[in-house]
Amino acid sequence: MAVAVYLLAAGNLTFWHKAWEGFATGPAFAAFAVATLAIFLAVTVGFAFRYVAKPLYVFAILSTAAASYFTDTFGTIINANMMENVLATDSGEAGEFFTVGFLVHMLVFGLLPSLLVLWAKVRHRPLRPALGGNVLAAAALLAVATLLIWPNYAEVRAAMRRDFNAMLGTLNPSGPVSAAVRTAAAAIARRNIVREAVGLDARKGAWIRASRRPVVAVIVVGESARGMNFSLNGYGRDTNPELARLGVLSFRDVTSCGTETNISVRCMFSGLTRATFSREKADRRESLMDVLQRAGFDVVWWDNDGGSKGVADGVGYRSYMMRNDPDLCLAGTCQDDIFLGDLDEKLAGIGRDSVIVLHQRGSHGPAYYLRYPDTFGPFRPDCRSYSPADCPAEEVLNAYDNTIAYSDRFLARVIGLIEKHAARADGAMFYVSDHGESLGEGGLYMHGARFESAPRTQTNVPLILWASSGYRTLSGLDMGCAGGLLERAYSHDNVYHTLLGMMGVETSVYRRDLDILAGCRPVSSAS
Ligand SMILES: [Zn+2]
Repeated sequence: MAVAVYLLAAGNLTFWHKAWEGFATGPAFAAFAVATLAIFLAVTVGFAFRYVAKPLYVFAILSTAAASYFTDTFGTIINANMMENVLATDSGEAGEFFTVGFLVHMLVFGLLPSLLVLWAKVRHRPLRPALGGNVLAAAALLAVATLLIWPNYAEVRAAMRRDFNAMLGTLNPSGPVSAAVRTAAAAIARRNIVREAVGLDARKGAWIRASRRPVVAVIVVGESARGMNFSLNGYGRDTNPELARLGVLSFRDVTSCGTETNISVRCMFSGLTRATFSREKADRRESLMDVLQRAGFDVVWWDNDGGSKGVADGVGYRSYMMRNDPDLCLAGTCQDDIFLGDLDEKLAGIGRDSVIVLHQRGSHGPAYYLRYPDTFGPFRPDCRSYSPADCPAEEVLNAYDNTIAYSDRFLARVIGLIEKHAARADGAMFYVSDHGESLGEGGLYMHGARFESAPRTQTNVPLILWASSGYRTLSGLDMGCAGGLLERAYSHDNVYHTLLGMMGVETSVYRRDLDILAGCRPVSSAS
């Protein structure tokens, strides 16, 4: 009984906060709270057998302590998607989370109470009477829970319609543990998937076939960059001094497909729209990378951000996560300039039409200050903690804006390299972020909110386009025309088809209505 009370009291601040907000009246909340306690008691009392009780209690206490650190500190909901992220995460990224704060939290809220449980002397009854007694007690407690919920059912349903599932997802340890079970089941189910071929008829269109020199697109996939912090999009601080000088087009009203890398990256390269997307569907079909490769492009995916989520399974892949560059790599991760040397080399030797994807580290939290060099950073003082909630709000914003300014310089350097090799290939740069980020607004940090109720900070993403004069001449892309579209509303739904259009690919899967630039090229060159 003490374990049940302890779990609910010490490991569920976020859950109680959400429950309090979810219920319109005090009595309904109180009935729900007591019913929740009764259900927890039913489990801890119901399983109070020799050899079962203590391992179960210790497991519950430790998993609750670990989960509550993230939910209560960052507002991170540990759902199945987040779990997948953690599994896809290499050790360098995971290491960022094992901070002194985390270890202290685990010591106080996990280890000490666990030791107390192990130390307690329990006299167990023989199995048969214990079984009868426990089942009876659990049944009585569940009956109490039902009786409490029953008269308030209308209220519970109303709370359900608001955000009941998200609320239950924060209940520790049941939320994270069920997420772990579902993630494991999905991983087992996915093991033998054969991906459906997409765009079997894909081929290069007339203008790109006619080009005598290679055409190259560098697609930069951003990380946790939110559109509203780009001065190109009207932000009050100068976060884009470099790109502003280069005549890029910045689309201001672009909405992401999800609020996490795992969803957004899969979604935008899947050819599915947000309305039709599911991870299962995306995992069962080839991505844009495969279609481009089939059309005859040399396609590579270079990754500095925990993987392509299956998008690059069929093309050349290179990870930059664990490089040993002493200037750019620190604490197991590297800053995005790590790409530039190889990009320079690749462009210098380019002999075919190519698509190069750079999956950025970008603005990945919580340790924003690790994303840029100490010597860089126009905004000071910047939060230098793994735990942004411990810093003053303006220092968190300074660190975050520094990551945007660093990405600004990085993108400008990518463009600079395309220009440097302009005599060899005609190039364009396309940048889009996977999702935005919360910086403490409304008590939320980082990202991963349920899409339907996610704040705009997490779903408004930058989308930036640059094209060399050689590329513009070849493709007939009218930058003036494209410049007239910057205020229109777009989304990740547009990424796939805009890129097919930009590379002049003709295929039956191409949808002209979703190609942002379709109206800004001569009709004859549109696929
Ligand atoms: Zn992401």
